[in-house]
Amino acid sequence: MRIAIGQLWQETNTFNPRETTRADFEEFGVLRGRNVVDKMADTNELGGFIQSLRQWPESPEIVGLARLPAWPSGTATCDTFLWLRDVLIEELRRAGEVDGVLLALHGALVADQHPDVEGEVLRALRDVIGRETTLVATLDLHANITPLMVEQADALVLYHTAPHVDVFETGIRGAAVLRRILIDGAHPVTSFRKLPMVVPAERANTQDPASVSHALRLRLQEMEAQPPVLTAGLATVQPWLDIPELGSAVLVTSDGDEHLARSLCDELADSLWERRRDYLPELVSLESAVREAHATRDGLVVLSDSADATTSGAPGDSTWLLRELLKYDWPRRALVTLVAPEVVTEAKRRGVGSALTTPLGGVRDHRNSTPVTVTARVLNLFDARFVMSGHLSKNMAIDMGPSAVLGIGNVHVVVTSRSGPHFAPDLFRAAGIDPFAASVLVAKSPCGFRAAYADRASKILVVKAPGCAPSDFWNYPYRNIPRPLWPWDELP
Ligand SMILES: [Zn+2]
Repeated sequence: MRIAIGQLWQETNTFNPRETTRADFEEFGVLRGRNVVDKMADTNELGGFIQSLRQWPESPEIVGLARLPAWPSGTATCDTFLWLRDVLIEELRRAGEVDGVLLALHGALVADQHPDVEGEVLRALRDVIGRETTLVATLDLHANITPLMVEQADALVLYHTAPHVDVFETGIRGAAVLRRILIDGAHPVTSFRKLPMVVPAERANTQDPASVSHALRLRLQEMEAQPPVLTAGLATVQPWLDIPELGSAVLVTSDGDEHLARSLCDELADSLWERRRDYLPELVSLESAVREAHATRDGLVVLSDSADATTSGAPGDSTWLLRELLKYDWPRRALVTLVAPEVVTEAKRRGVGSALTTPLGGVRDHRNSTPVTVTARVLNLFDARFVMSGHLSKNMAIDMGPSAVLGIGNVHVVVTSRSGPHFAPDLFRAAGIDPFAASVLVAKSPCGFRAAYADRASKILVVKAPGCAPSDFWNYPYRNIPRPLWPWDELP
C-alpha cells in the first residue's frame, strides 16, 4: 500500500498590499519528494500523518509529494498559484500509483484571479488520481471552505482549537479518517453548510471556558467520538479576505449515514448562528490601553495589536502602539516588534552600542500607519531563528532573518527582516530578552498569543488600532464579499 502526503500552507490577507510570491514559499522552506518524509516526521500535520501511517499494521509506503509553506501575508500572484499547483501535480505524477492521498492545507490561500486556491488544487489532484483513490485533507479552522473543496475531497478534517494547539493531532485525525475509508471500508458522506457570517478571532478561544468556542469545541469532539462520525468541523474563517465566497462553514462527515451527518451539521450551524454576537470583542482604545499598562505596576501587561497581527497576514510594521508607548517612562522593558529589513541592515552597519536616528515602520503598509522617527541605541544584533511549538506549531522551524534590538529608553523594539510569529516568547528569547520580565509587551496576534501568555500575564488588553487585520473589519471597505453577510448586515 502506498500513501502520498503533502502540504500547502498559507493564510492570505487580501488587505496586505505586499503580494506573496514563490520566493516567500522558498524562503520559508519548500521540500519535495523523499525529503518531506525524512524532515517532517515530528512537525505539524505532516508529522501527525507520518507517525500515524508508520503505526498502521499494513506498513504503507509513505510517498512525499511536497511541503509548500509561506508565512501569512498578502494575495499570492497568479504565477505563484500555478507554480504551487504544478509542483503538487508533478510530484503526484512522479509518485505513480497510490492508494490514498493525505494533504495538509490551510484553506484560506488566495491568489490573484484564484480566490479558492485549495479548491482548485484539490480538483487538480483529483483529476490525476481519479475517484477511486481516497483523498483526505486537513484544514485550519480559519479556512474559507467552499463547495468545490467539499466536492473534491473525500473528507476535510479541521483543527478543533484556537489558539491552534492541535496542529499535530489534526494530522493524526486526518490519517485516522483515511484509514477508516481505505482499510475499514467506510463510505464518507458529508453534510456541509455555509453560514452568512464572519466573526472576529479575539473571543473565539476554544481553550477558554468563558468563550462560546469552548462549548462548540467540546461538542465537536463529542460528535467525533460517535462511531458513525468520521469527522466534524467548524470553520469560523479568516475575516480579512475580500472574496466572493467568504463565510463561516460547518461540516460533518459520517460513514454512510446521511441523516446523522445532516442533523449534527444543522445542530452546529444553528448553535454558531444563534451565538454569533457573543464573538464581538471588547476593544480598548490605544491611549487607554497604554495608560492602563503603565498604571499596572506588577507583572506583565500584554497588548494585543490584532490589526497588525502577522499571524493574520498583516505586514507587521504598524507604528500606532509604538508611538503611544514612547510617550511614557517605563519601569521595566516595554517590548514591541516590527518588520523592517532596511533598519536591521543599518543597525548592523553601525554595530552594537552605536546610536541611530531612523524612521521606523509604516512602510510595508503606509495606508494604515506612518513612520515614527526615533533616536535609538543598537542593543543587540541576532538571527531570529528558533523552533516553535505551541500555537500554530509543533517543532516548526522559524527563520525571520537578521534582526536587531533597538532601545529608546526602556522601549525596546525587536526589529526583524522578515515577518513571522511576532508574538512568540521564543522570538524575544532569541533576542536575549525574557518577555515575562517586561512591563508591557505588544503581541501581533488576535488570539493565538494567549496560549503562551494567558497563564503568566497580569493583564491582557485587546487594542483597537487601524491595520490590515482589524477586529472591527466590517468598518473597512470590502468590494467582493457576498451580501448580506453578518456583521456587515444585520440579519435575523
Ligand atoms: Zn488559523
